[in-house]
Amino acid sequence: MKITAIREATIPLRSEIRNSAISFAHMTTSAVVLETDVVRDGAPVTGYGFGAIGRYAQGGLLRERFLTRLGRAAPGDLLEDDGSNISPEKAWRVMMTDEKPGGHGDRAVAVGAVDMALWDLAAKIAGKPLYQFLAFRHGLPQPAPAVRVYAAGGYYDPAGGVTRLQAEIRGYLDQGFTAVKIKIGGAALAEDLRRVEAVLSILPPGAQLAVDANGRLPRAAALACTEALNAYPLLWLEEPGDPLDFELNREVVACSTNPIATGENLFSVQDARNLVRYGGMNPARDFLQMDPVLAYGLVEYHRILAMAATAGWPKTQLSPHGGIQFALHVAAAFGLYGSEAYPGVFQPAGGFATGAPVENGRVRLTDAPGIGIELKNDLYRVFQEI
Ligand code: MG
Repeated sequence: MKITAIREATIPLRSEIRNSAISFAHMTTSAVVLETDVVRDGAPVTGYGFGAIGRYAQGGLLRERFLTRLGRAAPGDLLEDDGSNISPEKAWRVMMTDEKPGGHGDRAVAVGAVDMALWDLAAKIAGKPLYQFLAFRHGLPQPAPAVRVYAAGGYYDPAGGVTRLQAEIRGYLDQGFTAVKIKIGGAALAEDLRRVEAVLSILPPGAQLAVDANGRLPRAAALACTEALNAYPLLWLEEPGDPLDFELNREVVACSTNPIATGENLFSVQDARNLVRYGGMNPARDFLQMDPVLAYGLVEYHRILAMAATAGWPKTQLSPHGGIQFALHVAAAFGLYGSEAYPGVFQPAGGFATGAPVENGRVRLTDAPGIGIELKNDLYRVFQEI
C-alpha cells in the first residue's frame, strides 16, 4: 500500500460577512488530495482534507515542506507496523521532521489540512465512517451517531439591525437548532446588549444563546462586557479578550457568572496547556474550543484531549471550533460537548452532508466510509476538480 499521488489547491471560502475582528470577503483554504494504490469498487481509495476555516490557504508551506516530506518518505514510514493501513501518527512525524519547537502559526494549519486527508484515507481503507474508526482505534465506547450542534451566525449587518438578526435566528430555530451564537465586540456595548436581548426575547424555553467577541476587546472593555453580560443567562461568552492574554482571561473568568469559552486560536498542545495552567479556566463550567484541524490536526488534538483529561477536564467541556464534517466525527468519537455549525456561510467547506437535517439540535453522521465528503455535493465537486 502506498500513496501514489499528492495534490493541493487553494479554494475560496468567500463569505460577505464580518465579525468584530476581520472580514471574510477574501477567505481561502487549502484542499489536499491523497491518492493510493488501494482499489475499492474499481477506483483508487483517495483521502480528502482541507485547512478548516478562518486561517487562509497554506499552499507555500504545503508545497515546500509538508507535502514534499510526505512524498519523499519510504512507503513503510507512513504505514502502521503491520502494514495494514496508513498511520496518521507516523505521517505526522514525517511531516514535522526538522521543524523547531514553538512558533505554532500557519504551519499548524498546513499540517492540519494533510492530517484530515490522512484520517479520511485511513478510515476509508478500514471501510468505516471516521467516527467509528476513531472509536475502534482508540478503544472508546461505541459513539452515538448524532452530535449536538449550535448555529454560529449573528454576524454584523448594520443595515438589517435587530429585525434581520431576529429573522436569521428564527431561521435557525426553524431548521431544528436549539442553540445559536451571535457576534459581539464589534459595536458599542449598549448596541451589543440590544442584540443579545433581541435574540433572547425570541428563544423558546430550553433554547440557548452564546456570544462571541472574537478576541477583539482590550482589557477594560473585555471586563466591562463580561460584567454587563452577567445580567443574561448565556450558554457561554467566547473570547472576550486576546486569545493569548491568559492573565486577562483569568480576570474575565473570575468576574463572569456565564461560562467562558476560548481556545480556537491556540494551535498546539503546549499553547492549550498554558491556557489550562494560567488562564483561570474552570473545568466544571467553562469550555475549551481548540480546533482539531487548525492546531496540527487530529494527531495533535488527541494530545490536547489527553492533556485536558490529566488537568481534570471532562470531555463534555470541550467543544471544537469549526463547523465542518471532520469536527462532527471528532466530537462523536470522543464524546465531546458538540460541534459548531455555520449554516449557509463559508461554502463549500462549511456544513455537513448535503440535506442532513438538524433534529432537536443534533446532526446525524452518515455511514459513508471516511469523513463522507462525497456526500457533501458542493465540496466533493471541488475535490473532484483537483
Ligand atoms: Mg469564535
